Amino acid sequence: MTPVIAVKNLTKLYGGRGVLCRALYQVNLEIDPGEFVAVMGPSGSGKTTLLHIISTIDKPSQGQIIIDGRETGGLKEQELALFRRDVIGFVFQEFNLLDNMTIGDNIALPLTLNNVNAAVILRKVEELTTLFGIDDQLDKYPYQLSGGQKQRAAVCRALVNEPKILFADEPTGALDSKAASELLTCFRNVRTQYGTTVVLVTHDASAASYCDRVFFLKDGMISGKLETNGNSEAFFKKILNMVALMGGERNERL
Ligand code: ADP
Ligand code: MG
Repeated sequence: MTPVIAVKNLTKLYGGRGVLCRALYQVNLEIDPGEFVAVMGPSGSGKTTLLHIISTIDKPSQGQIIIDGRETGGLKEQELALFRRDVIGFVFQEFNLLDNMTIGDNIALPLTLNNVNAAVILRKVEELTTLFGIDDQLDKYPYQLSGGQKQRAAVCRALVNEPKILFADEPTGALDSKAASELLTCFRNVRTQYGTTVVLVTHDASAASYCDRVFFLKDGMISGKLETNGNSEAFFKKILNMVALMGGERNERL
């Protein structure tokens, strides 16, 4: 299978003259279409930097990022903007919904901006919000929803133009454990329903145990990889062992 994401010898340095910070060093990884993958590592290990570079928000100092067969370093600014719009969805820890718009309008926004037909928008929003269990919240405003519902709305918005890849940076970081497990189950359903590749950054072993594979980052380098055998309870234990081995944080299972 041709990977949907290939990272080759990626190094990222921050800073100019004087103090240089090496955020990533010689990172190599491949992710297949439809995989649900986690990137784990302690704070400062380079997770966000890696996600930003793979998703073309930031540029590498060295190395190549090949997404969907295209070397993103070769794309011009205008091509990159289209590429981001059509291929990539992004979810952050903070929900980033617009306060003065209803949940339905928030989710529809990427399509409204692209002048998509109203009936098509309505159908898509309905389909996604049903999958995420917030189809009865469309006329409400963000302040009327729980944190978990807001995050599920943010994920719906990221998915509304059917990206090939969904990136999520600590999406459960502001959620309680029940809301977190609901969101992670939704990510799994998205993969099953649409074949979307999901790349999740987390420092939470429990969140990572919902995935097919986990990459461990330490000091900007890939320090380990694990794959599930389908039993998420057993996978959680394997992940915890790896985290302990690496000298990181421990977590409770959700
Ligand atoms: P994580 O998401 O795993 O907590 P980050 O990718 O945010 O880690 O950061 C990795 C390293 O790069 C840290 O040492 C951080 O201080 C540094 N770093 C991140 N962003 C910048 C930046 N814009 N300028 C300088 N250093 C940065
Ligand atoms: Mg981070």
